[in-house]
Amino acid sequence: MAAYIADILTPDEVDELLDVGIPAEQIAGKTLDHHIWGHLPLIIHHGALRAPVTLKCERKGCTSGQTRTTYLGSGLHGGAWCYGWNENGEYEVNLRDQIYVCDTCQVKS
Ligand SMILES: [Zn+2]
Repeated sequence: MAAYIADILTPDEVDELLDVGIPAEQIAGKTLDHHIWGHLPLIIHHGALRAPVTLKCERKGCTSGQTRTTYLGSGLHGGAWCYGWNENGEYEVNLRDQIYVCDTCQVKS
């Protein structure tokens, strides 16, 4: 059965597709409509379906301009997509509970 997959998918929809056994490779190339970060590309990264997002430092008044890319993926519960993996495919962050603070602000605090 060839499933029709829309070009823009919410995290809920992506998780439903994965739940029914649609291969991640068929979902890669679509766009994730994330409730926090907006439209993100869905890619295969270290063998898993991920959506890279560029995070800006969330410390108030930060002027460093530093950013960090994390690779969001399915996890926690259906439609959450709050877990991030690093460039090497290793789990690094739960963005529901954690925020990105740049190196400069970490040294200051
Ligand atoms: Zn900062």
